[in-house]
Amino acid sequence: MTPRTHATLLLALSLLAAPLFATAPAPLPDDPACTAADRAFMERAYELARYATTHGGSPFGAVLVKDGKVIAEYSNCEHVTGDVTKHAETGLISAFSPKITRATFAASTLYTSSEPCTMCCGSIRFAGIGRVVFGTTELQFLRVMGIPLDPHPLDSREVFERTAPGTKVLGPLMEAEGLKIHEDYWPTHMFPRDGT
Ligand SMILES: [Zn+2]
Repeated sequence: MTPRTHATLLLALSLLAAPLFATAPAPLPDDPACTAADRAFMERAYELARYATTHGGSPFGAVLVKDGKVIAEYSNCEHVTGDVTKHAETGLISAFSPKITRATFAASTLYTSSEPCTMCCGSIRFAGIGRVVFGTTELQFLRVMGIPLDPHPLDSREVFERTAPGTKVLGPLMEAEGLKIHEDYWPTHMFPRDGT
């Protein structure tokens, strides 16, 4: 083997050994508008995200809170149901909207472990939820998943600003903890479809 061939072989082996999934990027700072209560409910959303990973879902969870009390919870369950709409936020709204008035939704906060996708933003809009707090940004958890970043990303704030300007959006919050959940999950799971 010539030195050049040897070097080429080493390069090829190093590329094969490169991790498919990136380690968690440096977390972004918390949104300064978030409160201690927001942190406590985000902790619950993260628990639900962890629960999802062992119950037929991807690592996403959501909690609906009104007047300091949890009134609804949901974990992503799209794999076990085969239903692509069973994201944490849209799943929660679909399951509970027959029992929750629009006035209650408007006075509630939805805590979601990761920034809502465009489908979930639409559900939040039509439910009329007044306030949303998300944990990890979509940009950051896509980095963990190793998905090429969209050159023209559409983040949730822009969706809400254009379609539901009355909805208050806060985040990220406790992003390091949320990214750790993704980092623990995605390297051992195939990426089936866009799920938040
Ligand atoms: Zn979603």
